[in-house]
Amino acid sequence: MLTASLLTKKRDGGELSDSEIRFLIDGFCAGNVADYQMSALAMAIYFRGMTLAEVTSLTKTMWQSGQSAVRHSSVPRVDKHSTGGLGDKVSLILAPLLASCGVHVPMISGRGLGLTGGTLDKLEAIPGFRTSYELHDAESLLDAAGAYIISAGPKIAPADRRLYALRDVTGTVESIPLITASILSKKLSASLDALVMDVKVGSAAFMKTQQDAVSLADSLIRVGTAAGLPTVALLSDMDQPLGCAMGNAIEINETLDLLEQASAAISSKAQSVVELTVELASDALVMVGVSATLEDARQILARKLSDGAALEAFHRLVRTQGGKLAERLPLAHEHVITARQAGYLASVDCVTLGHAIVSLGGGRRQIGDAIDPSVGLRIEVAVGDRVEPGDPVLRFYAPPRQASEYLVKLEESLRWSPAPVAANPLIIKRINSPSGMNPTDANNSSSPTLS
Ligand code: URA
Repeated sequence: MLTASLLTKKRDGGELSDSEIRFLIDGFCAGNVADYQMSALAMAIYFRGMTLAEVTSLTKTMWQSGQSAVRHSSVPRVDKHSTGGLGDKVSLILAPLLASCGVHVPMISGRGLGLTGGTLDKLEAIPGFRTSYELHDAESLLDAAGAYIISAGPKIAPADRRLYALRDVTGTVESIPLITASILSKKLSASLDALVMDVKVGSAAFMKTQQDAVSLADSLIRVGTAAGLPTVALLSDMDQPLGCAMGNAIEINETLDLLEQASAAISSKAQSVVELTVELASDALVMVGVSATLEDARQILARKLSDGAALEAFHRLVRTQGGKLAERLPLAHEHVITARQAGYLASVDCVTLGHAIVSLGGGRRQIGDAIDPSVGLRIEVAVGDRVEPGDPVLRFYAPPRQASEYLVKLEESLRWSPAPVAANPLIIKRINSPSGMNPTDANNSSSPTLS
């Protein structure tokens, strides 16, 4: 086979066979297909899309370029993956919550790059917490804690790691076939029985419109199922932060507040994290047959939250991965922003909130940047809430000298209305089978334009 001929075939809208895709990906990993050729392929895929068969082959080949977990037991294994959002701490609650229900949650997670924080960075705010494990060593974490949250090291889907680095600099990240193969190749490495996707929609999400989010969810469900990994998806709102806390240490603290469920001070905005977590976890329990219906699953999960089993499982996970978490984590100096007049919160400019955190060291501008876990934000109001003058609306945790230049921007990131405002529903849609697409086509002929 000739690489250049395969690139021409894809460029002209042809369908690559399984062996042709393997030739390209294996050749890329072996150094026989050059970075510039792989970049050209990514661009051709971006414009031409891929059929279901092609995306499935690409996914499997990228997965098989690396290692897979070897199971120690027949305990059902489930995971959840989110497309990323501000304040998204669902994984921190969902993994121990599901472990407390007797299923295993081998979670291979990512670091934050850009405006939304990564689960690993949040966990590394806990002194001693270790995220780097070989896949075969991580199995013993499952035996001990029922769940692990570890980094996707170089042996997990290395073809995706290398291809993603090229996509990142060639304008080819925003392609549904490439995103699908990238996400699923890593998830397949954990030898899961079921996957639940949280596809975020809104101004602070990868997918800005519901139509794009449905296309991605459809593609993930079709390809996941075809590759032997049953997948369902929830579409959830990302026009405002999820919960109140945004940052690293502060999200661990909110996770503890929610798992302890002890404080009357937990606002309904913070509680929305639990609502979404329970919905995602319910799907996981139904998919692996632990619960017969979503309603049964919700009841089990509510019990595990209220009787402290999920909290205990969280502490067990933290201890098993070396973390020492005796009390709430320290935060930087607090700056309180208050409402100037009465009104209703109409919208939140999440990009400005995310920028403020990243700019003061709470996130990364570039791979390898150090993180200051004590930097963060806390939003006290949800879209639609009414405030009176002087009510605290945002708390910014940051060193005083650097914080001052962000305070006005942060204040302006909240937009107010004198009249009541209706918020989007948190959970927009549950998709458990592909819909509205040609069944042989996971194509993105209208590849979404994302920024
Ligand atoms: N997340 C991934 O893991 N891969 C993508 O391509 C996009 C988001």
